[in-house]
Amino acid sequence: MKPIQMVDLKNQYLRIKEEIDKAVIDVLESTAFINGKPVQEFADNLAAYLEVKHVIPCANGTDALQIAMMALDLQPGDEVITPSFTFIATTEVVALLKLKPVFVDVDEKTFCLDPDSVRKAITPKTKAIVPVHLYGQSANMEAIMQIAKEHDLYVIEDNAQAIGGDYTFSDGTTKKTGSIGTIGCTSFFPSKNLGAYGDAGAVFTNDDDLAAKMKMIANHGQSKRYYHDLVGCNSRLDTIQAAILNIKLKHLDNYILARRQAADFYDKAFANQPKITVPFREKNSLHVFHQYTLVLREAQRDGLNQFLASRNIPSMIYYPVPGHLQKMFQAYNASSAQLPVTDWLTERVISLPMHTELDAEQLHFIASSVLEYINS
Ligand SMILES: *Cc1c(COP(=O)(O)O)cnc(C)c1O
Repeated sequence: MKPIQMVDLKNQYLRIKEEIDKAVIDVLESTAFINGKPVQEFADNLAAYLEVKHVIPCANGTDALQIAMMALDLQPGDEVITPSFTFIATTEVVALLKLKPVFVDVDEKTFCLDPDSVRKAITPKTKAIVPVHLYGQSANMEAIMQIAKEHDLYVIEDNAQAIGGDYTFSDGTTKKTGSIGTIGCTSFFPSKNLGAYGDAGAVFTNDDDLAAKMKMIANHGQSKRYYHDLVGCNSRLDTIQAAILNIKLKHLDNYILARRQAADFYDKAFANQPKITVPFREKNSLHVFHQYTLVLREAQRDGLNQFLASRNIPSMIYYPVPGHLQKMFQAYNASSAQLPVTDWLTERVISLPMHTELDAEQLHFIASSVLEYINS
């Protein structure tokens, strides 16, 4: 059996090695390392894939969130509603920009923002909502967009874990996650569903003015060379990463399929196990399984983690400390937030290996090992 990893980037690379190596060498020979042709090509191809008007590539997913929030002219102290149950980048940039992160609870099934909790958290200072499509499952965008409309709020989708996923509204229209809100943000961190071979990210929008502004912000607020109209930052996607992403984008739908097949295998193996809950799949959205995350209702999580490790099966806790309990947010008195679902999930979630290269033998070994521990 091939060794089991949380993410197998090596074997994924080997399948497309020839194409990738050629594309990288082409960039090396062109020496157009910044803003070379593949950067705009990738932006155009991704825009077509997402059916969104504008894609502005940037240096990483954290910058994408920052650029989005900078473009919205938010004022210090403005409130931004976000989940606590997410990767720290989502909420870190809020604080970095001197905005106030307002942590709300998530839905127990989807692990994403709970619309009722969002509603209760709105104050006159609320300016934006940041739904995170965690683990590859879309948040309830119908309800979130409705709340945003009623209260005139921006919606910034953190799509870092759900690129390629979609969401169908009750009127039957289907949109890709990240193309629904005011701005969508994503990361191409190597382990993400569409991963570069280094850091990379992008923002997307259908708003022409916001697109122009974000493009400037990502490039020193520059309108033309050496004319700087806004305070921006230096956050460009480099050409080598763009060339790699351009190739990998063509494979994204197959990558998603492979992840979903692995998830199907796990789901079947864990069906009717009262001690564990398999990931919920919202009927009106395509779960792209960035992670396959179990909720352990009874079993001992540390014990399972150690048991699997003893068989060289990695497992991970995403995330061991929720945002509202992180030291970085002490100044906001964030730990006083009442987030019972977040706290409950934080104690019980465990993610199993999930990637495009898992084979039947590995999946069988992982699933049977989990079951052996759970039922011992
Ligand atoms: C990975 C990730 C980010 C940040 O992306 P980087 O490219 O690592 O900066 C932001 N939000 C979520 C939910 C993520 O998973």
